[in-house]
Parts: sequence; structure tokens; C-alpha cells
Amino acid sequence: MNVLVLGAGQLARMMALSIKPLNIEVLAYDVGSKQVVNPLAPQHPVCDLAAGIERADVITAEFEHVAHDVLALCEASGKLKPSAQAIKIGGDRRLEKALLTTCDAANAKHHIISSEQDFQTAIEALSLPIILKSALEGYDGKGQWRLKSKEDAATIWQDIERFISSNPKQGIVAEQMVPFSREVSLVGARSVSGEVKTYPLTENHHTDGVLSVSTALADEPQLQQQATEVFTRLTQEMEYVGVLAIEFFQVGDQLLVNEIAPRVHNSGHWTQQGCDCSQFANHIRAVCGLPLGSTELARPTAMINILGEDTLPQAALGMDGVNVHWYGKEKRAGRKMGHINVSGKDQAQLEQRLLTIAQLLPNESFADIKSYIAKQCS
Ligand code: ATP
Ligand code: MG
Repeated sequence: MNVLVLGAGQLARMMALSIKPLNIEVLAYDVGSKQVVNPLAPQHPVCDLAAGIERADVITAEFEHVAHDVLALCEASGKLKPSAQAIKIGGDRRLEKALLTTCDAANAKHHIISSEQDFQTAIEALSLPIILKSALEGYDGKGQWRLKSKEDAATIWQDIERFISSNPKQGIVAEQMVPFSREVSLVGARSVSGEVKTYPLTENHHTDGVLSVSTALADEPQLQQQATEVFTRLTQEMEYVGVLAIEFFQVGDQLLVNEIAPRVHNSGHWTQQGCDCSQFANHIRAVCGLPLGSTELARPTAMINILGEDTLPQAALGMDGVNVHWYGKEKRAGRKMGHINVSGKDQAQLEQRLLTIAQLLPNESFADIKSYIAKQCS
């Protein structure tokens, strides 16, 4: 089988690595160079998009912000999974909110904004503080504004107006700030026949708006069931095929959906060591019409993102239960360069290893991660 992934970043790379044992070949479409490449050697073009579509048995995507003409071309070939519509929903917060409403999935009270009048209405309808998010192209906390008091409204509106005027399709979703106790996410897969398997919920910590640590939650049956029900409703509604992630805010015992990602997700990278079948392998299995692999927790695992560093201390690499995954990217401040999966035979050993590796990681890039681990594992 040959799979073409739209997007040639680390997610396509990890899909290719994960599925080689099943004799499945993965090529990736680099949206920058507009060339199809081998995701393990992206500097060498293989062919153009038309030829890539022609030679693929299945086409899928590693990110939701794929140009709509490219999606249309792929969908016309009959090979695209999940559907272009599902990918578009993940890339537009307005469509995402509409899906949540249709599926009766709990989420923050919100209001869609496309004019100053809407902005004023949102301020009245949602009590402050509110968070304003660009409908299109948001990621890693970019394209967001927080409005805490009415005095700041005029300044923030000026900024938003400038932002949305650059793209006639752009809009804003205003949301009430949720007083959550923690952020969790659910990664799961839905097969061609509609079978659903979900991984254990993951607890997520962010550093400056970017995911930095994800820990598999072994023992949360009530939350797991709640999240899986939402997953099942959303994916059924979209007739979804592949891996999808849902980010939630936990408030008391309730999960509110923050956003969905129609793809493999950073908060699911721990599944490479924590499960028999990773999210990457399961995504390719699903879109290829193969049976889904096990999503059960094989061993307690947490993931640490490597942000802005291209080396790690040898001692960390040499630790038992530690697996490092580099993405082969050029170093830039704050950039996701790779991740570290840390596993233990039980929760206690995992926490011990997290404390040990936290000691070894350099202060400059890992200060916040180190203090988070110290707090969580003490
Ligand atoms: P990414 O794609 O990297 O997950 P993003 O840019 O798409 O991020 P969100 O996940 O919507 O944006 O928001 C980023 C972070 O801002 C969230 O992880 C959460 O910490 C905070 N946040 C977002 N919406 C709310 C809300 N309604 N109430 C409280 N905090 C929020
Ligand atoms: Mg998010």
C-alpha cells in the first residue's frame, strides 16, 4: 500500500516510521515546496502533487490547514480519508463549534464575531473575562486575545479588526474563560467500518501556550467514558476515518471540549512507547481499511516536548525507560524539535524517572517543565 500524507512535518515522518513494518510506504506533500517528498528525507523531491495523488492508494493529512483547492483535488480522487469536510471543520473554529452544537457536546459558552457590533454583543452575552480566537489558522495559542476588563475592549478590537481585515474569510470566536482544574485530551481512532478505539486520556501541561508535557492517565474510568462518548458522537456525525484528538477542559467532574484536531496529535506521542500500537500506526491502519491495533496502556508513559534544543545530555539518553524522538528540523527558539517519552513499569517508577530526567535537562529551555515535573511527582 502507498499512502500520501498532506503535510511533510514530524507527524508524517512518525507515520512513515511507525508503519514500515506493515510494508506500507508513506510519501508526504510538502505544502511549502509543493512537492511530494519522502518524509524521512524531505529535501529530495519525489514528484509533483498530481503524480503523488495518482500513485497513492490512500491520501490523508497531518494538519488541518491544508489549502482547500488541494483538499478538493484529493477528494476528487476518491482516496482522501478523513473527508475534506472533516479536515475543514478542524481548521475552522466556527465549523467546529457548529459540530459541537449538533452533537450536543459540552463546551464553553461562545459567540461568533465578524463585525464590531458582534464584538459588543459578545462582551454583553459572555461575562468577562473572555478569550477571542481567530477562526482560521490558529495553533499553539497564536491568533488569540484575552479581554479581562471593558476598558481594554477598544484597543483589542483595533488589533482584531486589523487582523481579520487581512483575510475576508477570517472571523473570530469569542469564548467565556473556563475555570478549569486541568487540561486533558483524548486521542482515538475510527475505522472504515465504524469501530472506535480510544487511548487513555492524557493530562496536558503547556509552557507559554505550547504543549510541553503529556502524561497518560491510567485510572480515570468516569472521565474516560465521558470523553469516549463525545469522541464517538463527533466521529459518527462526520463519518470520520482515522485518528482524531479532542482537547478538553476539566471542570469538576465534567469535560468541556476545547477543540478538535482531525489528525494525530502532539498529546498522543506518548503512545509510541506506552501502547502496543501508536497513534501513528493506528491512523495509517484506519485510513488503509486495516483492523485497528490495541490502544490499551501497556506501560505508564509521559512525553516531554523538546522546544528549541537540538541536543540532550548523554545521561538522559542513556536512562532506562527513556526514548528520544528527533524530528530532523533546524534549530529555532521555541520550535518543537523532538520529544522524549519516559516510561516506567508502574506509576511510581515513571514518576521517579521523570524526576531524574528533569534533573538532567538544561535549565534554559526546560525551566518550566522541570518545575512542573517537580510539582507533579513529589
Ligand atoms: P493548539 O492548537 O496548540 O492546541 P490553539 O492555538 O489552537 O492551541 P487553544 O487550544 O484553543 O489554541 O488554546 C490555547 C490554550 O489557551 C489552551 O490550551 C488553554 O490553556 C487556553 N484556553 C483556550 N481557550 C480557553 C478558555 N475558553 N478558557 C480558558 N482557557 C482557555
Ligand atoms: Mg489547543
